[in-house]
Amino acid sequence: MAGAYDGSYSDGRTAAMHEVVAQARGDGLHINSKTGDFEEHWRYGDVRAIDPPRSDIPFRLTSQTMPDARLSVNSAEFVADLRHQAPQLFLTGLAQPTLRRNIALIILALCALGLLLWQGMPHLSAPLAHLVPAQWAQNIGETYRSRIISGAPVCNDASGTAALAVMTRRLTNSLSPPLNVDVIVADKAQVNAFALPGGHIVIMRGLLEKAGSSDEVAAILAHEIGHVSHRHPLQMGIHVAGIGMMVDLFTGEGSSLMEMAGEVGGLLLLLNYSRDMEREADAYGRKLMGTAGLSTGAMARFFARLKPEGKKGGNGAENGGGYFSSHPPLEERIDAATKLETGQSVLNNADWMALKNICG
Ligand SMILES: [Zn+2]
Repeated sequence: MAGAYDGSYSDGRTAAMHEVVAQARGDGLHINSKTGDFEEHWRYGDVRAIDPPRSDIPFRLTSQTMPDARLSVNSAEFVADLRHQAPQLFLTGLAQPTLRRNIALIILALCALGLLLWQGMPHLSAPLAHLVPAQWAQNIGETYRSRIISGAPVCNDASGTAALAVMTRRLTNSLSPPLNVDVIVADKAQVNAFALPGGHIVIMRGLLEKAGSSDEVAAILAHEIGHVSHRHPLQMGIHVAGIGMMVDLFTGEGSSLMEMAGEVGGLLLLLNYSRDMEREADAYGRKLMGTAGLSTGAMARFFARLKPEGKKGGNGAENGGGYFSSHPPLEERIDAATKLETGQSVLNNADWMALKNICG
């Protein structure tokens, strides 16, 4: 028979301390108010020691079912009774099953993360990119877009915008399932174009000026649509932002990528696609051009046009880190000049002129 020990008890809802009698019985801890106005019954599975028992202070306990409640008993015999009934209460450190389980989980998680960072990220970024919710990708893409055009106006001449829509439709019409792309021209002198998460594509005015035909622009656009279709922008984000992105993915916030977008270095890193990605986008772009009945050699013609400048200016300031530097030349791109020439243009001359002048 368990002894009955004097103690004090608070239910945690009010500051009132009650004189109680505590008993460690076979079926749990019984707490009876000395005045008879309440009694509590805590199952041992729910009971927690606030601190390990000491001889100089009362032993304090609580229950998971009433985490604010406190029972204090100043009796070594009570502690001995309790130890007999519920030895797990007195395990310390690693001997506690819950702590052991938590530590094991933390170690497992750290190993998984380490493995991911060490070698898994490049392999995982592609499947992960397909898990990112569309709305979230949209939001990230919009943030990037505003950073990339950094205050430059979005060109919106009506006939130029219509011509751009004709070009985009011509390329994407055949896609099944349809691909959501949102193409804008930014009023910037850079000879460049970008694909961003969420189907956003930015073409800089400088690229329109540099291009020798609407087909060359279409070829660049088709290539960028290839990046969108393969979700390369998100893959790069996941690859570069690493753990932060993983956390974002599960919290749904996207703040790591947002932060990256805030730093020019991070942004450039994000747009620095691998050669394999460039190859994929090239192949996709050529297919789109071919399906639309357009010359698949247009991309190579555009690159040939850029090449002398690329050599003169290197990757540096002269061409403003342009298309050549963010799209390192692939041999097959230059060789591709021999590809199918259909003699058809994506835009008629009037529309091409309108597109060239979209920035007014
Ligand atoms: Zn590219």
